[in-house]
Amino acid sequence: MILYRLHCAQDHDFESWFRDSAAYDGQKARGLVTCPVCGSADVDKAIMAPALGRGTRKRDVEAVPAEASSAPAAATAVPVAAEPSAQPVALMSEREQHVRAMLRAVRAHVIAHSDYVGDEFARLARRMHEGEEEQRAIHGEATPDEVRALVEDEIEVLPLPVLPDERN
Ligand SMILES: [Zn+2]
Repeated sequence: MILYRLHCAQDHDFESWFRDSAAYDGQKARGLVTCPVCGSADVDKAIMAPALGRGTRKRDVEAVPAEASSAPAAATAVPVAAEPSAQPVALMSEREQHVRAMLRAVRAHVIAHSDYVGDEFARLARRMHEGEEEQRAIHGEATPDEVRALVEDEIEVLPLPVLPDERN
């Protein structure tokens, strides 16, 4: 199918679809291509090349190829849609924010209600376990090896949740 912008002897512009250019030529030769406004069969194809447009009609002719005029807008939209950088933070769900708030609260509670013993933690935890130290709540740092040794001796330790934005 082909869309022609047509122009009649009375200066009416209109558009019409044809199977191909030969179909247009055939229908026009038999007087079947008529202006929908005045019914005149004295029609012709409007000049499509903008450089050859005449007077005020030039603007209408330029507006005809709709696909061509919309293409640049679609092309400029693509880079915006493909921009991925800020999405992971923006997509953090309400649920995840809630979990993080809970972890932060647990951590704050433990820290507020236990003694900080720093890197003495593993040694003190073991002494408490063996009854050499009075039982109390403590928190501090332990190396992975120290934690593994405590767990192997069935000394209960709980890792404090560390939030990604607090790690440094
Ligand atoms: Zn007409």
